[in-house]
Amino acid sequence: MEKVVIVGTGCAGLTAALYAARANLAPLVLTGKQPGGLLTTTSTVENFPGFPEGIDGYELTVRMQKQAERFGARVKFATLDAVNLSLRPFVLTVDGERLETRTLIIATGASHRHLGIESERILENKGVTYCATCDGALPMFRNQPLVVVGGGDSACEEALYLTRFASIVHLVHRRDSLRASRIMADRALGHAKIKPIWNTVVTEILDSKQDKVTGIRLKNVNTGTELVLDCGGVFVAIGHTPNTELFRDIIDMDEHGYIVPKKGASTNVPGVFVAGDCADRVYRQAITAAGMGCAAAIEAERFLEMLNQ
Ligand code: NAP
Repeated sequence: MEKVVIVGTGCAGLTAALYAARANLAPLVLTGKQPGGLLTTTSTVENFPGFPEGIDGYELTVRMQKQAERFGARVKFATLDAVNLSLRPFVLTVDGERLETRTLIIATGASHRHLGIESERILENKGVTYCATCDGALPMFRNQPLVVVGGGDSACEEALYLTRFASIVHLVHRRDSLRASRIMADRALGHAKIKPIWNTVVTEILDSKQDKVTGIRLKNVNTGTELVLDCGGVFVAIGHTPNTELFRDIIDMDEHGYIVPKKGASTNVPGVFVAGDCADRVYRQAITAAGMGCAAAIEAERFLEMLNQ
């Protein structure tokens, strides 16, 4: 039987793993389908303290994993299929196999949000993508006009990254100002290759019939005017959805599916703790996720001590 199982290997999960490992709890850490979490899809992380020159998102998570493993964390490439948290110990199904654990730390993070239009689904990976750092350098996007949808930090970051390859980057946002932090917004709007298109939504990505992206149909939300823009790729950067479906009706969540901690990193189920983006719709930073991971591990350790008394 495990003492601590951690679900997720983003900043939250790996920091929880480091702290639990250093408490001699030999945590089992399940990667899920995206080892390293969303940070691995970022280019340079410039706001994680301790790296004045910035650090590549993938490298940061690799280093975190090595640090946790050095103290005895066991990282397993596996996916949690189901949980039964009404039993003690908790019963998990991991890649079809039964696993028992005394405590569970949920650090499942969040996934990219989709526009929700049919043509987006049809053309996903055929010119529609959710990650410029993963896909931007592909030959199909080189020297092409590209579109980024969104107005947050992610959209700015994606647009800036794509300026290396694109002939021009159209930044399509549904309002008339960016939500992004000042520094990112200024950088994006100050770049000669980035052209904002304000108050505009995407109604269709063209061309499903050709099975590739050739353009995008846009609509101005104020005037209703429609416009078709030629482009070779569409990068959707409109935020995230928490990966909490597995815990619905078991762990308390808000209306958007974010887990609501009870006190610190505790949840409504004693012995189950939470950390990172799956429980944070306010800050959503690598450093806040890491801090929450630390708190969750400390609380799991205290919970285990209490059980042994
Ligand atoms: P976000 O801040 O939630 O922004 C999402 C953007 O997409 C908003 O501008 C939103 O419009 C727009 N949007 C949402 N749903 C839409 C839809 N259906 N159609 C069209 N537009 C839609 O998400 P994010 O940019 O991914 O950032 C998430 C968090 O990560 C933030 O806390 C951010 O600071 C952080 N982050 C930081 C960095 C960095 O510091 N370098 C980089 C990436 C992310 P509205 O503005 O109208 O709501």
